[in-house]
Amino acid sequence: GRLVGVFALQGDVREHVHVLEALGAQTRLVRRPADLEGLDGIVLPGGESSVMDRLARIMALKDALAAALRAGLPAYGTCAGLIMLADGIQNPAPGQGSLGVLDVTVRRNAFGAQVDSFEEDLAVPAVSADPVHAVFIRAPAVLAAGADVEVLASVPASRLSVDPAGLGLDDDARLPVAVRQGRLLATSFHPEVTGDWSFHREFLAGL
Ligand code: GLN
Repeated sequence: GRLVGVFALQGDVREHVHVLEALGAQTRLVRRPADLEGLDGIVLPGGESSVMDRLARIMALKDALAAALRAGLPAYGTCAGLIMLADGIQNPAPGQGSLGVLDVTVRRNAFGAQVDSFEEDLAVPAVSADPVHAVFIRAPAVLAAGADVEVLASVPASRLSVDPAGLGLDDDARLPVAVRQGRLLATSFHPEVTGDWSFHREFLAGL
């Protein structure tokens, strides 16, 4: 099996480990630069991206992880993990940065209000013949994506928990919620909590 790291300074680490191991991968918790050695890929979990960013800097993991990703380490980011991979954050927490490897600009906390998550069955033909059940928990929206970014699934802007017009969007605009750029895969939602493992399968198949 492949050896897949899970960024483990914050977030729903255990859920990803469970899915990856159930799909036959070996896993390693990644907390320091040495943990990156020999990985076939890495997963960045859901959680709170501003805390992930701060802890990654404190633990001197951020620069090493960014370098590994730039050198071609495949990654799959869910929710906060998507924010970590993104090149730009429209509404960062004070002092928050990102790894800056995925050519998208995201807006944090754009889907799924504080109390309720929002759920939707998404068509993702590139990844699954069946609709993928997606749960959005204070999830990021991808507001802009570069030409090299493949949009795998999208939802109407009317699903945002903020007024689309306030972001300069029409109600019938669609926003990417699953993207791929080279060896980077990212979703606004959390397949690790729903039991739909299509994206983890897709990620492992590419390693
Ligand atoms: N709102 C979180 C953030 O900014 C993401 C939420 C999640 O991962 N479920 O990182």
